[in-house]
Amino acid sequence: MKKVLIAGGGFGGIVAARQLAKNQSLEVTLITDSEFFRYCPSLYRVVTGYLRRQAIMHIRDLVPDNIEVVIDKVTLIDRALRTLRTESGKTHQYDYAILSLGVVTSYFGISGLEQYSYGIKSVDDINKLHEHLHGQITSSGELDKNYIVVGGGPTGVELSAGLSAYLRTIAKKHHIKRHKVNIELIEAAPRILPSMHPVISKKATKRLRKLKVKVSVDSKVEGETANSLVVSGRSIPTQTVIWTAGVANHPFYKNNEDQFELSKRGKVVVNEHLQVDKHVFVIGDNAETTYSGMAQTAVHQGHYAAHALSLMAVDITPKAYAPKTPAYVVPVGRNWAVMQWGLIKTGGMMAGMMRRFADLIGYADVMGWSKAVSLWTRTDDIQETCPKCSRLHTRVASAK
Ligand SMILES: Cc1cc2nc3c(=O)[nH]c(=O)nc-3n(C[C@H](O)[C@H](O)[C@H](O)COP(=O)(O)OP(=O)(O)OC[C@H]3O[C@@H](n4cnc5c(N)ncnc54)[C@H](O)[C@@H]3O)c2cc1C
Repeated sequence: MKKVLIAGGGFGGIVAARQLAKNQSLEVTLITDSEFFRYCPSLYRVVTGYLRRQAIMHIRDLVPDNIEVVIDKVTLIDRALRTLRTESGKTHQYDYAILSLGVVTSYFGISGLEQYSYGIKSVDDINKLHEHLHGQITSSGELDKNYIVVGGGPTGVELSAGLSAYLRTIAKKHHIKRHKVNIELIEAAPRILPSMHPVISKKATKRLRKLKVKVSVDSKVEGETANSLVVSGRSIPTQTVIWTAGVANHPFYKNNEDQFELSKRGKVVVNEHLQVDKHVFVIGDNAETTYSGMAQTAVHQGHYAAHALSLMAVDITPKAYAPKTPAYVVPVGRNWAVMQWGLIKTGGMMAGMMRRFADLIGYADVMGWSKAVSLWTRTDDIQETCPKCSRLHTRVASAK
């Protein structure tokens, strides 16, 4: 039986594992560093009080039983020997490997950011941020002077929009009488959502202002201290900075640079079959391909790699990989979104509905339709326990 190793239990890895599980002639092992899968498009919702399980799911619930799951970190690859080494010291042999390790946060060397800012990329990040938001209110009886979100990309936009309602709710829960919430979104480029059409940036900016989020463009973060953020020479008093602005390719590739050719962006150069050699596929955020950096691309490439690998295992050459144009749908507050898809550029509640459907499809990709539908119908439920005073904050949306 041919042995397949998949490294990384994110979008690319889970989709590939689910598809390869149907091939009885392969023995598939998924090595991933966490027992949880993160559905990144909904992380901002978990941060703002919605049901955790809509973005954080047990890997074992997503992949069929015939896939072996190993919780470990891959550290080294030897392409000549066809082995992957892990942090625990184990060496795993493969006939085929699919690498999909995602990206890591980059602070661009700006002083204080790594120490003082918060993130929303992992379960730990979210727990830390919740502890801080609730802790500040319970210990001082006040909200922060300013809540700053850095990075006007999709994550920064959806998060700053969601924070507005969330902070008002938790202030009320903790009986804070005067609760003026100052939220500012900082972007270094001349407009937010700089990778989208200017019309979309305009619509999103207008909507954010309506939600009382201050939008500051052409603004560069220069440093952070425990009580302030310096932005283009201006010092903003704050203890809450959420950094969404920078990512870099996973360090695994740099650490194994004799095994990979890296592009200027530090991503892995792959051939027309998303491979670096006949036995190793690199997909998702790690690969230097068109539309890399999106879940939709990682899913598409997970399907492609699994299909191509199954053909190669029986000596059939697969068709070359063809990229798929993704739809960009960015939520800006509840039931509202901006959308860019081919020639369509729009903003409003219709786009908000499209986003809801996009999530249903995204869930189905990683867990199948029946589980996806049952989760999706509950995604508007709120369930959060204050980590400081244990007050439970719930609202079952469907019961309203
Ligand atoms: C907050 C946020 C919001 C986003 N919103 C959207 C959106 O709305 N639409 C969209 O299309 N895209 C969105 N993205 C981007 C999207 O999530 C990524 O493009 C997608 O996750 C890439 O899939 P991947 O498989 O390459 O990596 P990931 O999904 O990141 O998976 C990488 C996996 O590898 C594991 N891992 C890491 N290091 C190791 C190691 N050394 N050994 C073993 N396992 C390891 C990780 O735990 C993880 O499970 C968002 C990203 C973020 C951070």
